[in-house]
Amino acid sequence: MAQPLALKTQLASVEQQIEQACKAAQRDPDSVHLIAVSKTKPASMVVEAYQAGLRDFGENYVQEAVDKIAELAQYKDINWHFIGPLQSNKTRLVAENFAWVQSIDRLKIARRLSEQRPTHLPPLQVLIQVNIDDESSKSGIALEQLQELAAEIDQLPQLTLRGIMSIPSANASEQQQQQSFNALAEAFHALQQEYDNVDTLSLGMSNDMATAIQHGSTMVRVGTSLFGKRQ
Ligand SMILES: *Cc1c(COP(=O)(O)O)cnc(C)c1O
Repeated sequence: MAQPLALKTQLASVEQQIEQACKAAQRDPDSVHLIAVSKTKPASMVVEAYQAGLRDFGENYVQEAVDKIAELAQYKDINWHFIGPLQSNKTRLVAENFAWVQSIDRLKIARRLSEQRPTHLPPLQVLIQVNIDDESSKSGIALEQLQELAAEIDQLPQLTLRGIMSIPSANASEQQQQQSFNALAEAFHALQQEYDNVDTLSLGMSNDMATAIQHGSTMVRVGTSLFGKRQ
């Protein structure tokens, strides 16, 4: 079976990259949490990753994710993270099936998630998505709106605000990239001062993981480097 071996090799390489980036930044490797982004990949690949030790998986598309979660219901210690754009008519499915939502970008969605979160489950762990480079192709709020949305989310009983998620532009100049990552790190630290539960800066994907870790990311979301290219 070539596939499981390939995944193990990929995982070892990603873990090594995280370790090296942490070392360069003089950070503890345990301070960076790896989320395996399994969108578009079959449940069988999630099982391989699970057997290799991964427990956190990120998904972007509600229906695809809910089907996969049902198929993998026996793996009770998987934490499912919703990381894609979320429409109001899909909030119930997300509230019922996920542990985390990283892509909160408006109060209406946050309110619905809180109302629809089943009370037998722990509160939904949420991140506010910031559109740091103001790209029309990406969801998220402007940094200037962060304080207000955070204060509102903090009032919602079935949500726990854990921090910020962002997807900086892949086409930015080196200087622009540094600026964006710095601004996110600053906003994260300010939020941490204000809210006890805030401990997560979800920043960095296959291509910008090292830069993100250098700027204080505590959670990297990695798809391609683990599971290969998507269709
Ligand atoms: C797809 C996706 C990822 C993973 O990206 P890769 O480049 O494949 O590592 C991470 N975060 C979000 C929000 C995504 O949509």
